[in-house]
Formats: sequence, structure tokens, C-alpha cells
Amino acid sequence: MIQIRTKCVLIAAFASLHIILVTIPLSALNTTEQGTRRRIAITFDDLPATNGNLEVMSYVTTNLLRSIRLNDVPAIGFVNEGKLYKRGEIDARTNLLWQWLEAGLELGNHTYSHIHINDAPFAAYKEDLIRGETVTRMLLKEKGMRLRYYRHTQLRTGPTPEYKKALEELLAERGYVVAPVTIDNNDYIFADIYSKARARNDKETMRRIAAEYIPYMESVLAHFEKLSIKFLGREVRQTLLLHANELNADHFDDLIHMMTGRGYIFITLEEALKDEAYRLPDAQAGRGLSWLHRWMIAKGMQMQPEPREPEWVARLFETYPQ
Ligand SMILES: [Zn+2]
Repeated sequence: MIQIRTKCVLIAAFASLHIILVTIPLSALNTTEQGTRRRIAITFDDLPATNGNLEVMSYVTTNLLRSIRLNDVPAIGFVNEGKLYKRGEIDARTNLLWQWLEAGLELGNHTYSHIHINDAPFAAYKEDLIRGETVTRMLLKEKGMRLRYYRHTQLRTGPTPEYKKALEELLAERGYVVAPVTIDNNDYIFADIYSKARARNDKETMRRIAAEYIPYMESVLAHFEKLSIKFLGREVRQTLLLHANELNADHFDDLIHMMTGRGYIFITLEEALKDEAYRLPDAQAGRGLSWLHRWMIAKGMQMQPEPREPEWVARLFETYPQ
């Protein structure tokens, strides 16, 4: 009997020691106001890569996937299939998409040509969207997966309510789930300068842009966390838009480190969309907006200005040589 009691005490002591060891680092992390861990789905647009030749596209794919795997992030990539068709390179470019699937990740459709919805009649947009399915659907099928997510180009859902409705019907008809974005940002501005600087081997500009990029992204996360609390009374399961570019390929580890420091855990898009907020009506908007803003506008609320990139970055975006 005594022996048993001693054993129990020992187990209890060990258990509490274990709890202390585990909870100290976790409690040091930021959490939502409700004390739960923040959740976020990471999405990459413009695959195989926003810009560049095959060498750049391969660089972006290899390094992004290395970092995504290292950090165990269940990301999804949205494809512009038009980027696959270069004579002599079709197989190599298609293989870049295959590598995403080989890494255990998912792919979605982001139109064939990254078409501008505000300039395209509905019939042309529809054709571009359907044309953008072919290879991705085939690759997913080989993996026993189904093409199920659609990401609007420029996050624009239609220039008029009628257009938006027709597009919603088309997407439903073709079995798509819309992939919304709650954390919209200007990563492309930083990435554009970074990419040009890399092509010129301008290491100083690359360093300055990368150093500014992470705090900028942190300010954007903080903004949408607060906005979510203001609107929903809690933090939504966030969906972050990033682009497949050299800046993210080189610095995704730093982004992950920053987000982990804010208490985020990384979830699939499917898990994020289980948040009931994604069932709210989204306002028609002629411009690309966070879904948080769309939900707010649909309820008659005002948008709130988002954090901007620093002035020197905006200036360099205009003036950095091609
Ligand atoms: Zn895009």
C-alpha cells in the first residue's frame, strides 16, 4: 500500500515537473485575448513564381519548399498555368508544381493568365479560369487529390454585383471553394525591389529590404488581429496571402519565426475555413480587399486604413532600375 502511494506521489511530482517544463515556453508566447493559440493558413499565389525565368522559378520553388517543410507548414499554392508554357521548358516548369505535391502540399487555381477581372468581360474571365485548371487538375489526380480551391486574381471578385454573382455560380458549378484572404498585404512591393536587386547582385538593397519586410508584415498581422477582435469579438482563423517570389524564398524562415513569436500555429486552408466567420456575406468590391473588410462593409461598417510600407520602400519601388 505504502509502496503504491509512494509511486503515485512520484508520478504526480514527475507530472507536475513535466507540466512546468512544457508550459513555461508556451506561456511566454503571445496568444489571443481568449488565451487560445492563434491559427493561420499560409497561402502562396502566382505559382510557379510571380516573375522570372526557369532558373528563378526553380530557385523560388526549391527554397520556399525547403523552408515550408523545415517549419512543417501545411501551405497551399495557387497556380497560373500560363507560366508553364515556354517552348522546351514545359516539363521542367510543370515539375516545379509537382514538387509542391511531393512535399505534401495542395495546389489551387489562380486563373491561366492572372487575368484582370475589371478589364475582362465575364466570358473571357470564365475561359481563362477554366483554361487554368488543366495541368493542376491532372497533377492533383495523380496524387489522388481533387482540384478544389480557387483564389481570385488581385483578390477581386467582380466589378459589379451581377458579375460577382455569375462568378460565384460558375465556381460552385465547377466544384470550387473560394480561398479568401484575411491578411492582405503589400509583400509584392518589397519582393519587386528585392528581385531586381538580386538580379544586379545589389546585396545592400536586398539586406535593407529583407530587414524592413519582417517588421512590416508583423505590423500587418497586428492590424488584422485587432480588426478581427473589433469586428468579431475574437481572432478569426487567419488566412495569409504571400507570393511565390525570391524574397519569400529567402526569408520565409524569418516570417515563420515572427509568426511563431506571436503565438501562431499553422493550419491547412481547410481547417481555417471551418471558422464560421467564413460563412458571413462578403461585400462586392471593385478592388482587392481583406475578407475582414468585405464582411465589415457588408454590415455597413467602415474600412480601416491598413499599415503601409515605409516611405523609402514605396519610393524605391518607383525608382529602382529594371
Ligand atoms: Zn496573383
